[in-house]
Amino acid sequence: MAAARTRLGPAGPATRLGAVRIDLHTHSDRSDGTESPTDLVRRAHAEGLDVLGLTDHDTMEGWDEAVTAAEEVGLSLVRGIEVSCTFGGYGVHLLAYLPDPGYGPLDHELRRILDGRSSRLPATLARLREVGIGIDVEDVRRVAGATAAMGRPHIADALVDLGVVVDRNQAFERYLGPRGPGYVHRYAADLEDMIEAVTGAGGVSVIAHPWASRHDHRALDAAGIARLQRVGLAGLEVDHEDHDARTRAELRALARDLGLVVTGSSDHHGAGKVDHDLGCNTTAPEELERLLELAARSAVAADRAVPAVVR
Ligand SMILES: [Zn+2]
Ligand SMILES: [Zn+2]
Repeated sequence: MAAARTRLGPAGPATRLGAVRIDLHTHSDRSDGTESPTDLVRRAHAEGLDVLGLTDHDTMEGWDEAVTAAEEVGLSLVRGIEVSCTFGGYGVHLLAYLPDPGYGPLDHELRRILDGRSSRLPATLARLREVGIGIDVEDVRRVAGATAAMGRPHIADALVDLGVVVDRNQAFERYLGPRGPGYVHRYAADLEDMIEAVTGAGGVSVIAHPWASRHDHRALDAAGIARLQRVGLAGLEVDHEDHDARTRAELRALARDLGLVVTGSSDHHGAGKVDHDLGCNTTAPEELERLLELAARSAVAADRAVPAVVR
């Protein structure tokens, strides 16, 4: 890592992170966002964000480019991944911040998830053809851009491109969601194992949009979340567009009771998702400070380099 980067260690970045705007969950075109990591970082800077978390689905592909762009514009970058997991039989998204990318068990799981996604693609297209939609992999590739993880959002974009549906939401509602004719089950990591792998990689784990209405979250009740905390969970993403005011209040209270870090973020996907503008939800500086301290501690315990945040 370049010398220009400031290492934010256990001493804490609090003084340097005074009144700042922090968005810890965004996607580039390396997963299902529509902007390159460079464009995403530049836009974040232009729109007045001070700290940006890049958290593409199951891939660290965008990190290097984002680091370069962040150094150019002078934005703090928190490198992350949003990992597809299962817990109690239900899908859960885990935000993993600052893991060492060279840590074997994490890398192995991410590869398995990405492989599962690649084999899911042809199976999904075959099912769509069975219900009469003329779509093949070239239609998806045409709209997928530079992604390392061609998946359902790109199939949704292809369906829009082909005029089958009007937008991604309709594609999921009619064809690609769990009850749709194009739904194919795919591998996801065990959530508790993944939290341990992230900690082993010297990173920290935060559950993304735990109580989003579009997910079945019955496994993530207070007892479930307490159980995850015992294996190393550090925080909950409370402020997210998929949580209404009451859900946020309940989750915030739960996080406070358990002593978990509270984050807020946009889950920005560029033009790929409406109402998720950069900075529409933000994380309080003191919460980021706690998260970075836990990451530094986790890195020391794992005997890995103290995680660096690009400044
Ligand atoms: Zn998610
Ligand atoms: Zn996301």
